Amino acid sequence: MSSTVSPHLSRLVQNMQESSTLRMAQLSRDLSAQGHHVINLSIGEPDFTTPKHICEAAKKALDEGYTKYTPVPGLPELRQAIVTKFKRDNDLEFDINQIVVSNGAKQTIANLSLALLDPGDEAILFSPYWVSYFEIVRMTGATPVPVYAGVEQDFKVQPDQLEAAITDKTRFVLFSSPCNPTGSVYTREELEALAAVVARHEGVYIISDEIYEYINFTDRHVSIGSLPSVKDRTITVNGFAKGFAMTGWRLGYMGAPPEIAKACAKIQGQFTSGASAFGQKAAAHALLSDLGPTREMCAAFRHRREVCYELLSKIEGMKVNYPQGAFYFFPDISAFFGKTDGETVIENSDDFCEYLLHNAHVGTVAGTGFGAPNCFRLSYAASEEELREAIERIGNALARLK
Ligand code: PMP
Ligand code: GLU
Repeated sequence: MSSTVSPHLSRLVQNMQESSTLRMAQLSRDLSAQGHHVINLSIGEPDFTTPKHICEAAKKALDEGYTKYTPVPGLPELRQAIVTKFKRDNDLEFDINQIVVSNGAKQTIANLSLALLDPGDEAILFSPYWVSYFEIVRMTGATPVPVYAGVEQDFKVQPDQLEAAITDKTRFVLFSSPCNPTGSVYTREELEALAAVVARHEGVYIISDEIYEYINFTDRHVSIGSLPSVKDRTITVNGFAKGFAMTGWRLGYMGAPPEIAKACAKIQGQFTSGASAFGQKAAAHALLSDLGPTREMCAAFRHRREVCYELLSKIEGMKVNYPQGAFYFFPDISAFFGKTDGETVIENSDDFCEYLLHNAHVGTVAGTGFGAPNCFRLSYAASEEELREAIERIGNALARLK
């Protein structure tokens, strides 16, 4: 029997914004289901499948009986592999007790926010930020404090901007490098300058989201946690979704000071427990195996970056950045605001993306949810053929705007 009475919904959920990346991905799927040929460049998801040897390791783990609960922070075998990986790739020294594995890096960030923030506290987010940072922080009752860096400064926050944003309520500074949504990558020197600022403020932590570590087109990925000035105050977040094309496996992890790791495991123990057992076995195998397939995927993304950069730059009115990592372009499209095709007026980036979805059948995400209302995000985790066609369609649709 259906009820006509609306359920009481909490203030938390009523005040929360839906994830704009997931929303646009769903709208693209819906339009496809209606029979349109939609090219979905909205969600940040590698178009590759998980390398075969990792899938084989999961099958073997199932056969071996890895079908039960694991310790909340993860199987010791996986945590040890993460310790080894952090040392090998990132020059980070962790003990196994400092590692917590979660159901995706999204949960890692949620655990951290719940563990470190009280209502009234502040969390600094380098902006443009990944959409979920903002809402996760808000859900704790704390205040997200965006520090904005626009395309003219390659979307990179400067030390004096960070200094000006820190108050006695700041609990942590959160950013991703390589960055979602901008693709910007901080250099060692830039990270040193930012670390020097944080080091002057006792009690402020850095949460460094390095989930795009392996999709980096610069010479080297640098982990800010390896810098001596902030080594004991940095929490390094990573995951399997991007570098190993394992989005659906839901596996993320972090290395953190011991008390913070313990606090996150306590929270996770009440929400979800440990991540899936056979997935963790395969993840340990992934980290310790040859990274050849990961490097090949990175090379493919790099090639597509060149293709997209050339094509997007030709579209009049679009101010295109040149990303150094991840798989996104984040162009400034404010030149289109106020234009119309005779029916729809493009007032903002949400209108812009909706216009592209309905008139070019290309799914993208508005910059609004990333804290950058003048921009939109296009993921190039798609085949070269699809990307060429998508950008051609975008160019044609935009040419109709006057
Ligand atoms: N951080 C960033 C910057 C991301 O883009 C994403 C999206 N995948 C995540 C964290 C969450 O990743 P996961 O799929 O492991 O939850
Ligand atoms: N992180 C990806 C994105 O930004 C996946 C979707 C999500 O969880 O936001 O598109």
